[in-house]
Amino acid sequence: MFDIKIRLINMLGLLTIIVLIGLVLDYRNIIKRPMRIGMGLAMLGITAGIFLTLSAVLPENHVFGRVFSNKETTQKVVALTFDDGPYPPYTGQVLDVLKEYHVPATFFVVGQNVEKYPELVKRISVEGHQLGNHTYHHVDLLKVDRKVIAEEIDNTNKAIVAATGISPHLMRPPHGFRDPAVMEMMAERNLKVVEWSVMSRDWTNPGVDVIVERTVNKVKNGSIVLLHDGDGITSQASRMQSVEATRRIIQILSAQGYRFVTVDEILDKTEDVKG
Ligand SMILES: [Zn+2]
Repeated sequence: MFDIKIRLINMLGLLTIIVLIGLVLDYRNIIKRPMRIGMGLAMLGITAGIFLTLSAVLPENHVFGRVFSNKETTQKVVALTFDDGPYPPYTGQVLDVLKEYHVPATFFVVGQNVEKYPELVKRISVEGHQLGNHTYHHVDLLKVDRKVIAEEIDNTNKAIVAATGISPHLMRPPHGFRDPAVMEMMAERNLKVVEWSVMSRDWTNPGVDVIVERTVNKVKNGSIVLLHDGDGITSQASRMQSVEATRRIIQILSAQGYRFVTVDEILDKTEDVKG
């Protein structure tokens, strides 16, 4: 019963009712003096709805609980993250590029793809990269109930353990969407929720130059960069642009003095030790 209060969809439903009541009160000229209380109530409801929705979708926001989207540090470190795989041939191509430049990265994998391509997931792990959970079917966790959320997380962790022997402790909800129930369930499982601070929208395939430019222009010390080696569970779109962009992002940022690390390593960085 308590659950009703902490799902975003239910909070928005309640606010919609409040807005409607406010508008009706205003329309029927009820309590209009000294202030338009009904209209005030409606505006408050709309503002609260916008605030809660932004809290659920913005990657760098802690209203519903602590998320990790970057690390404040003076060290020139950056973490590349790849979502939605494994997805041949692109995951392998990304791994080839990372290997060529000795760059560790973090892969947030989709459970169903892990079960299809366990050998690719094993390769990710063996080559020194970190793995995180990105749900089993790449579902929007705001739209499903607690039972489904639990299955999506737990089945993906099981698939990753079966492929690599390692249980992940990082989770990135699809699209970064979360609400209090989602955050609570992650906490129960000791999963850190990882978002991002740099996003190029590479999944729309806007062109290699655009992906590279949007990324390198935004990277700062401690950035977590979102890229895609996969395409959810449909696995239809090409990730060729992301593969090529990864190579150039590594070249440019390396030349600027950046060092690449996994998400765990970037979060472990101590705050600015001077001297
Ligand atoms: Zn995703």
